[in-house]
Amino acid sequence: PGSTRWCFADQLGPHFLDDAAPDARDGGDVVLVEATSVFRRRAFHRRKAHLVLSALRHRAAELGDRARHVRADTYVEGLAEAGVSPERPVSVCDPTTWAARRLVRRLAAGDVGPGAGSVRVLAPRGFASGHGDFAAWVADRGERRLLQDDWYRRSRRRLGVLVEADGEPVGGRWSFDEDNREPPPRGATTLVASDAPATEALREPWWPQEDDVDAEVRDDLDRMARDDGVTFLGDDGPRRFAVTHDEARRALRHFLAHRLDAFGPYEDAMLAGDRWMAHSLLSAPLNLGLLDPVRVARDAVGRLRHGARLASVEGFVRQVVGWRDYVWHLYWQQGEDYRRRNALQARRALPEWFADLDAGGQVRAACLSDVLGSVREEGWAHHIPRLMVLGNWALQHRYDPRAVTDWFHRAFVDGYDWVMVPNVVGMSLHGDGGVMATKPYASGGAYIDRMSDYCGRCPYDPKVRVGETACPFTAGYWAFVDANRERLAGNPRTSRAVAGLDRLKDRDALLEQERRRGGDAP
Ligand code: FAD
Ligand code: SF4
Repeated sequence: PGSTRWCFADQLGPHFLDDAAPDARDGGDVVLVEATSVFRRRAFHRRKAHLVLSALRHRAAELGDRARHVRADTYVEGLAEAGVSPERPVSVCDPTTWAARRLVRRLAAGDVGPGAGSVRVLAPRGFASGHGDFAAWVADRGERRLLQDDWYRRSRRRLGVLVEADGEPVGGRWSFDEDNREPPPRGATTLVASDAPATEALREPWWPQEDDVDAEVRDDLDRMARDDGVTFLGDDGPRRFAVTHDEARRALRHFLAHRLDAFGPYEDAMLAGDRWMAHSLLSAPLNLGLLDPVRVARDAVGRLRHGARLASVEGFVRQVVGWRDYVWHLYWQQGEDYRRRNALQARRALPEWFADLDAGGQVRAACLSDVLGSVREEGWAHHIPRLMVLGNWALQHRYDPRAVTDWFHRAFVDGYDWVMVPNVVGMSLHGDGGVMATKPYASGGAYIDRMSDYCGRCPYDPKVRVGETACPFTAGYWAFVDANRERLAGNPRTSRAVAGLDRLKDRDALLEQERRRGGDAP
């Protein structure tokens, strides 16, 4: 008794079994429940459904006889089918969402499921810090804002990552963010073809080879769509992301050896011909629990010995152990209501053309059309298209943060509740009124023009505010300022925008134009 571990589908790496108390380390059974009813309730991206099922089934295959892999409508039914009972209990690491946490608590208490004592809940895993670390930091901050930067420094010191023996940062600075905001190299159409100043030539990302498990998943998804009335979003296509620990390690090694160096400078840049740029593509495997983020960060630091540039290593470490953990903790610290925060009172439903990923090809704006296309085709876009194209558009057009969160969650291969709520409601749509970001991430076409090659291929002009060629992002920005003028005027970081709007000679024509355009596909 007690030697069986139950792993959720985002707890699939070896570190979820690797206990000091050898509950399930060697030899113990592992319960894996494939609860597919979720696909009947909401339309997920086909690629996301594929990844999750493929990862779970690959794990079951790896574990062989140790896996008690069951398919069921719900977790409660699945546990019963796997033979879990007070006499044959399981332990489970605390899961990643409020709903799943409630469920395991109720199972542990015996309020649902096989009875009290059949499920024991352990501390969460898969992150670089524990709830206690974050709570201690929040207590130390007192009334001060919960700044990511400050949390990140503390984490670096605690983990001993990129810190000297005296506790000071390697290279004399905690952040190289200012070096990491380069536009794409001039004239480049893809980062691969550019003369990126890397120690080794930048290569395409590592791509996995599909196998029989993937083929079976694809057949099952076809059958669900045909026979069970399940609807999926987006296109199917070759699997792009790692689904096993070994694959994830291979993807990481390839990224560190060939692409990390260009990650830093071009982190924020976008190119129509290269949606991957120098990004790691590790969010999906990290969120499936296949990699331990601390080890990922240490491996990145190890590249300094091979001549990797410090600004790139630091930039990557900040994402993996800084931002990722910060977002995870805010999800819990801000409470279950975080998802309902709507400081800007945005209430518009997502229009069909946006929700369906511009499947009908209605969008002419080059940036938005390309990014929606990337989500349709891959279920993925990197951070800046998410924040400064999709999020920016949703913010300017007052889309309801809850609906946007739900859409991102379903449409992105790496979307999980814990990571979507803070990133979408907080960072992107300012629904939390400024917990994550001091000011809303609204911006006009000038930013997109500087950081990408989109505008040259667009029927609109980022400098034009009114008329046929008016850039919808530039005009939309000013309409956003007008719609939120009181709040923005009261914030020293944004008050100049309101004054700027009131100085525009064509202000009234611009606002009238935006009222007429409404939420039409741009
Ligand atoms: P890289 O650019 O190579 O970064 C390395 C890793 O850092 C990522 O794999 C990820 O694990 C971590 N990371 C970086 N930024 C964040 C962040 N803000 N929050 C959490 N982790 C971060 N990330 C998700 O993992 N899942 C999501 O559903 C998700 N939704 C987002 C929605 C919006 C509106 C925005 C603005 C950001 C979102 N992010 C999300 C964060 C970030 O955009 C993705 O992690 C990143 O683009 C994934 O690509 P990558 O693995 O190549 O990341
Ligand atoms: Fe996007 Fe405006 Fe540039 Fe067109 S002109 S690509 S709409 S920012």
